[in-house]
Amino acid sequence: MSILSRGSVPLSRYILRSRFARKPPLISLRPLSTLPNLPLFRALQNHDTSSPAVIHSVSQRSFTYGNLVTDIVHAKKRLLESTGGREDDIVGERIAFLADNSYDYVVTLLSILASNAIALPLSPAFPIGELKYVMDNSHAKALVATEKYAGKARDLLKAGLDREPVFDIREKITVGASHSTPVTLEDTKAASLGGMMLYTSGTTNRPKGVLIPQSALTAQASSLLQAWKYTPQDRLLHILPLHHIHGIVNAILTPVLAGSSIEFMYPFNPDTVWKRLAAPFLSSSTASKVTFLTAVPTVYNRLMTAFPRLEPELREAARTGISPENLRLNISGSAALPTPTKKAWQDISNGNVLLERFGMTEVGMAISCGLDFSDRVDGSVGWPLPSVEARLVDTETNEVIKPGEELDANGRERAGEIQLRGPTIFQEYWANEKATREAFVDSDDGKGKWFLTGDVATRRKVGSAGQGTSGDWAQGLMYFIQGRRSVDIIKIGGEKVSALEVERELLSLPQVVEAAVVGLPSEQWGQKVAAVVVLDQDKAATAGRNGKSWGPMDMRRALKDRLATYKMPQEMKVLDGAIPRNAMGKVNKKTLVKEVFGI
Ligand code: AMP
Repeated sequence: MSILSRGSVPLSRYILRSRFARKPPLISLRPLSTLPNLPLFRALQNHDTSSPAVIHSVSQRSFTYGNLVTDIVHAKKRLLESTGGREDDIVGERIAFLADNSYDYVVTLLSILASNAIALPLSPAFPIGELKYVMDNSHAKALVATEKYAGKARDLLKAGLDREPVFDIREKITVGASHSTPVTLEDTKAASLGGMMLYTSGTTNRPKGVLIPQSALTAQASSLLQAWKYTPQDRLLHILPLHHIHGIVNAILTPVLAGSSIEFMYPFNPDTVWKRLAAPFLSSSTASKVTFLTAVPTVYNRLMTAFPRLEPELREAARTGISPENLRLNISGSAALPTPTKKAWQDISNGNVLLERFGMTEVGMAISCGLDFSDRVDGSVGWPLPSVEARLVDTETNEVIKPGEELDANGRERAGEIQLRGPTIFQEYWANEKATREAFVDSDDGKGKWFLTGDVATRRKVGSAGQGTSGDWAQGLMYFIQGRRSVDIIKIGGEKVSALEVERELLSLPQVVEAAVVGLPSEQWGQKVAAVVVLDQDKAATAGRNGKSWGPMDMRRALKDRLATYKMPQEMKVLDGAIPRNAMGKVNKKTLVKEVFGI
């Protein structure tokens, strides 16, 4: 095996065993079939053991909650053995892992949490150089990989890591543990040292490790459970990457807390997703219906682009599959949801309304629209979720915008930075005291520091929304995201323009398929607005004046009545294909400006 010839690292440091060949632990201080007495594991133990926890969509291989508990115990035991056998040695240590979107990922993640260690999911899509940075920065004690990524993991080791990790390749779990292991829940102080670490996609600086303690993960999942009411009857179709908060907390930890079923289907392919959503409504199928979908706006856009091309019978079944009575919840987030996307989804789904929410790695989900359709307001991300405290701090005056003070002296809406606190907020940027210090501000009420999100919003009361129909938390003023303070708030003379607002207007034009609005330097005004767009080739070909192709002048004419002159893009660059986005559908605007405008 190639591992045996692996360069300069002593072989004795590596563990390479099948999952079934379990060695007795070297030293064991406590009985091994224990899980920490934490809400997540308490819930796991109480779920119906025969209820499906994880399903692999393509093979329809299914693992029950009974399997899951036992496999977590086994994986925890194995982790302990491989790292030396003493539970205390692993507490609070970073355990990096490379796993495909599967049962194995869920077992690995939960077994690390069950060991009171810090789970560090690595993205298999990242190049070795970036993974090395993450391993070195986090000083990871172990690197666990599923067979699929064994090669990648070996390449990573060959890159020469600062701290030589224990290396463990896990065989794919094809059958859930057959017998259930009696498990006891154990109170332990060590639980406060476990958690998860995710790396933020750095724009100017190197990525930062966001340390989310186990208590914050629990608070995030409990908050979502309360707001979105996951149930054991829910089947969530999981189509997201697993190195990001959205795919992990919203689509694994919370369903596990609730006892819902998670069906993995990755990588995302619109045709396969449509087939799956349609399956229960095609005559010969016995597939369970999908009740819960959470994704990013680009995923919904890609689904809708593929929809008209489906065979008529499949299309109608898919439409039934995403109708409100079947798909009880369809959520969008991680980037702004364009109103035309929301509207188009509603049109093809017999009236299902996408629920938008706002969140980030450092805080999980923070603000969300409500379950009641009247609480899913266009352009708004809703209300602070249960247990999340939010405030807006005026970006001009640095004053807290108190409820009732949303308008300035000229009757204009005041934009403020969203600041957050509460049990869901992360603990620190790993080994980066300066960044941690700068990310929080003291409060004057003694109730703890506020986290500075760097996102700007306005707040207003919206007609019939916020009556409490979706829960006590969903009441009062609603939040409207204006964008990142650093790139989306464009300053023109004394005026501020929200890039997201201009993008929304651009996307409402039939010729525009994609839009990213950026600020460019302007000698006269400080900054000017520029738009990068992708056009619908057919609709744009002759839509300009005198049957010419649609261009910047046509764009300005179309937006004249919708945008104030200073908000109007002064430049428009048309891209062929697509605007570059990361796996979560986000545009890195700093890179985009460099690439498109050479600045
Ligand atoms: P990440 O930590 O990678 O999840 O990125 C978090 C950032 O995504 C936030 O700070 C926002 O800028 C952005 N974001 C998340 N959800 C939304 C949303 N619904 N609308 C607009 N921006 C969002």
